[in-house]
Amino acid sequence: MLNFEDYKQEVIELRRHFHRHPELGFQEYETSRFIQEYLTDLGLEPKTIAKTGVVSLIKGKYPGKTLLLRADMDALAIQEENDVEYISENPGVMHACGHDGHIAMLLVAAKILSRRTEDIHGTIKLVFQPNEEEDGASFLVKEGVLENPRVDSSFAIHLWTPIPSGYIGLKSGPVMAEMYNFKIVLRGKGGHTSSPQNSVDPIVCAANIIQTVQSIQTREIDPLEPTVIMFGKIQGGTSSNIIADTVEMEGTLRYLYDGDDEGVQQPRRRFKRMVEAICEAYRVSCEVEFLPSSYTVINEEKSVAFLKECVLNQIIDGNKVVPYCCMGGEDFSEYINHNNIPGALVFVGTGNPAVGSDIPHHRCDFNIDEKTLLTGVKIHVLTALEYLK
Ligand SMILES: [Zn+2]
Ligand SMILES: [Zn+2]
Repeated sequence: MLNFEDYKQEVIELRRHFHRHPELGFQEYETSRFIQEYLTDLGLEPKTIAKTGVVSLIKGKYPGKTLLLRADMDALAIQEENDVEYISENPGVMHACGHDGHIAMLLVAAKILSRRTEDIHGTIKLVFQPNEEEDGASFLVKEGVLENPRVDSSFAIHLWTPIPSGYIGLKSGPVMAEMYNFKIVLRGKGGHTSSPQNSVDPIVCAANIIQTVQSIQTREIDPLEPTVIMFGKIQGGTSSNIIADTVEMEGTLRYLYDGDDEGVQQPRRRFKRMVEAICEAYRVSCEVEFLPSSYTVINEEKSVAFLKECVLNQIIDGNKVVPYCCMGGEDFSEYINHNNIPGALVFVGTGNPAVGSDIPHHRCDFNIDEKTLLTGVKIHVLTALEYLK
């Protein structure tokens, strides 16, 4: 009989260890070393993948399918402003997305599962993934994380403060948005602000672009297919009385639908068409560049049904499992829909005003409700035991 309560303290302590020692994407060297030591102590044989990632197999006593469980490891470039004894000891770097908890949950699940191999038909592939915030997953896929043995199904958890503690967010279909970073460079012709007729002003052009592209989401795309276009950075000019030569703008374009390729291409094509047309009207030359960040995370229907019927029903009241999706990006899509593997991402609610964990992700005062860590451990363990029964 599994007694998860025995692991409550350990999962909290592990999470606090990682919280104290956050590392940025692809620099998770100490995190990686700690994980490898922990897994080696369990009798496993962890291997390095994609610079700082770790992959380790738990082989069941009997042959069967391969299940991938993934935790991301990276922290963010944020100076922590929490008043806690386990505050970040790495200045300017903070676990402000809950990935410290993800590592802790999967390590403790590995401990429990490595002692249950006689119940396992198949193989569990534990993946500790670097640099989630910048599509680290694609590097692991290139290095063969989905092969040897070939993965039959993948699952992951994200601790999530917008969902209250005690609730779980899960649904089939698109749950996290496809995301592109865009960069626009506008080139005009500088000059004296007293005689604009002798110059080409990229700033007035930029202002028009920022306003006009918003009509893509409100006038060109089905309102039931959410799209968000945001500018996060704009730079241009040197002085109040000089017409600028160039303006650079950066932002993100996100959409949440499982469309075919045609559908997925649409917002970007519309965006480029509009920017180029505006630039032509203003006689400004432009470059528009899209850098893919992550694909839409699309939970597979059968995997969601499996989780609800075989896993979550052992942990939580059915009415506390709520359908949830959001416009955040996640590279977990690489382990499932983008590579045609069944699976699902589960949101474990960890928002609790009583412990100050109702703060949005990526903020300097972000925190999680540590009592929800055990829920994550349970989901990992039961998913593996039920899937490889
Ligand atoms: Zn994040
Ligand atoms: Zn995250």
